[in-house]
Amino acid sequence: MATRFSATEPDGDSDVAAPGSGVDLDKIERGVRLILEGVGEDAERPGLRRTPRRVAEMYAELTEGMREEPREHVRPLPGDRHDEMVIVKDIHFASLCEHHLAPFVGRCHIAYIPKAGRIVGLSKLARLVDSFARRLQVQERLTSEIADTLFEGLKPVGVMVVMEAEHTCMTIRGVKKPGAVTITSAIRGGFRKDSRTRAEAMALIREK
Ligand SMILES: [Zn+2]
Repeated sequence: MATRFSATEPDGDSDVAAPGSGVDLDKIERGVRLILEGVGEDAERPGLRRTPRRVAEMYAELTEGMREEPREHVRPLPGDRHDEMVIVKDIHFASLCEHHLAPFVGRCHIAYIPKAGRIVGLSKLARLVDSFARRLQVQERLTSEIADTLFEGLKPVGVMVVMEAEHTCMTIRGVKKPGAVTITSAIRGGFRKDSRTRAEAMALIREK
């Protein structure tokens, strides 16, 4: 039997660096001012005067995963031991598509089968997802990176990561297909060989 958890528990620790540290905000600001000029705006009009700074701070925040070490979030919990499948559903994430710098937003589902009782805290899984999502990404790589890091860090029997997301570069521009959802998955270890366990995990992820 699998154990399911919701991914909405609050996260107590706050070892995240201040937004913007390690980022050249001035450089981003200069770039944003050029975009404003490029689209024919007056960058000095009151509504836009602080926009370059705000955008710079936003990009610092949306890329803060680049400035942390995702493996830090995958430390087995001392004490707690559990050997049945663990599924954490609906970890919300927001990332930036590296082709358009446009957001893609969705949910990540993680299933793993612990080995020797090694499990990881639920909030840590959410932090792991964020630390890979908060950088310039493509959804396929994002999915694999989460699966690989969890597989290497926790050495479980198997890992499955499924991500579903709406890409604004597809929904509001180009082909303009609102509501189109891209689903990617990455499967490591035992889930690869065992189609029954894989199906069980998929069914639990799909279950509303
Ligand atoms: Zn894109």
